Amino acid sequence: MDLFIGPRKRLVEHLREKGISDERVLKAIEKVPRHLFVPETTQAYAYDDTALPIGYGQTISQPYTVAFMLEKLNVEPGHKVLDVGTGSGYQAALLSELGADVYSIERIYPLYEEAKERLANLGYDNVKVFYRDGWIGLPEYAPYDRIIVAAAAPQTPEKLLKQLKIGGIMIIPIGDEYFQKLVRIKRIGENEYEKEDLGPFVFVPLKKGKE
Ligand code: SAH
Repeated sequence: MDLFIGPRKRLVEHLREKGISDERVLKAIEKVPRHLFVPETTQAYAYDDTALPIGYGQTISQPYTVAFMLEKLNVEPGHKVLDVGTGSGYQAALLSELGADVYSIERIYPLYEEAKERLANLGYDNVKVFYRDGWIGLPEYAPYDRIIVAAAAPQTPEKLLKQLKIGGIMIIPIGDEYFQKLVRIKRIGENEYEKEDLGPFVFVPLKKGKE
């Protein structure tokens, strides 16, 4: 029996009150067992609307932030999605619930391994996890309909822009260690991109290279 059904429903109601209205995103959040993506010692807080530590100096993002990003990403079933910064794998699981074929990359080896095993155990067969650097992306499976980045960069990695389909959308936090804003980028031509500022948020940095 899943003792967390109630708390998960309450989290969904809270997100609704905060302005999330995409029913598919809310349904995915109601379904994915976030408590299985955080360390056992913090499971009691898994359905609070807060980021939590997952080790190696990293965090699972705040549910509101993830919901907001997913709402703005407009994922449709069958989309090929590049998820940069696997972390716990929670966001990858939500993307999978939205019907995407997910390619998720992580630069910290133990996090990569843990997330890969966790997602496989939970039956998320349409998520593939890779040990890669987000500054380089995953060119062998490009182009992607959607790219979502869970760590902030001073500027958008050029290689990721090139891995986006024409007509595709990328959501990425841009900024330094003190201030970051979420940006939605639409690739409208070979070398043409349309940018929209989605407001300030807090993210860990998109680091260079692998660990
Ligand atoms: N989507 C994650 C959020 C994790 S926080 C979740 O749902 O849990 C951001 C993650 O991005 C961290 O795990 C961090 O290690 C990773 N990251 C930071 N820089 C990266 C890079 N250059 N390439 C790949 N992953 C990176």
